Amino acid sequence: QRLSIDEYKQGILSGNRFVLSRAITLVESRLPEDATHAAKLLEQLMPHTGGSLRVGITGVPGVGKSTFIEALGSYLTHQEIRLAVLTVDPSSARSGGSILGDKTRMTQLSQDPRAFIRPSPAGAYLGGTARKTRETMLLCEAAGFQIIFVETVGVGQSETEVRHMVDFFLLLMLSGAGDELQGIKKGIMEMADALVVNKADGDNIKAAEKARQDFQHALHLFVPPESQVDPQVFLCSSLRQEGVAEVWQFVEDYKKTTQANGYFAENRKKQNLHWFRSMLHYLLEHHFLAQEKIRKLLPAIEQQVSAGTLPATQAAREVMEAVWK
Ligand code: GDP
Repeated sequence: QRLSIDEYKQGILSGNRFVLSRAITLVESRLPEDATHAAKLLEQLMPHTGGSLRVGITGVPGVGKSTFIEALGSYLTHQEIRLAVLTVDPSSARSGGSILGDKTRMTQLSQDPRAFIRPSPAGAYLGGTARKTRETMLLCEAAGFQIIFVETVGVGQSETEVRHMVDFFLLLMLSGAGDELQGIKKGIMEMADALVVNKADGDNIKAAEKARQDFQHALHLFVPPESQVDPQVFLCSSLRQEGVAEVWQFVEDYKKTTQANGYFAENRKKQNLHWFRSMLHYLLEHHFLAQEKIRKLLPAIEQQVSAGTLPATQAAREVMEAVWK
């Protein structure tokens, strides 16, 4: 059952995890009354948001994301930093369950009082999942988390959305496999502020160093980033907890540099606008398609389009004009 806006607000601002979890559930709910309640709550909380450092972490399944997040996360919480870990898992849209968002993946962090782990909402479609994550992130900020990790499976579906909500984007890679084998698209590499070659341990160290050089070289071929901080490639063994401090130092330096050169604030402004625009698109589409007239019209039109008797462009115009002419 829902709490009052004020109860949610007070609970969240005092850092009550139980209330925070319930507020996230409210944000994730598909019920229209919950959505209205959630929107009011978010509006009240807005002045208390924005204070965290938002870090996106991606990489193909098996690269070691959850092991890395355990290692880096524990490194941070040992410094008394409060960390929230959110996952965006497009596969949950299809399966209705999450392969990623399982607390048992991060056993150490999930027992850490300074860490808060929240898996993807199950059963939401992709655009929706990322949108919920955006709002969940704001709730976590209001609850006082200083660092927020947003984890995605790096298969090229949700990375762009996540890039639009974080300050820093980290890509985990493996050595000994070409990019094509890693399933990482060039576009994702271009979005990264840093690359981490994971599993740089045991027999793998030499190959990892070679991969580091290759990736560093590949990054030089991209256009220089707007942040004016050149992306770097790091070696890391998440399993042995080696190399995470260096990665984090780079993230902190990035924050300092981009705060000084204005990019950090500028980027957040752009992201707010992006968020607004994608919400507007979503609502327009949603309300447009929900109209009685459109719902009646669509099946016949779609049939003609798929049969090839009506060009798609013309069909789309006809649907629009049915409402707005
Ligand atoms: P995810 O699917 O990206 O979250 O990957 P996991 O964190 O679940 O790791 C996949 C497998 O790689 C697990 O068996 C881990 O123990 C292993 N692994 C993760 N990081 C390292 C590492 O730094 N070194 C080695 N040798 N194995 C690792």
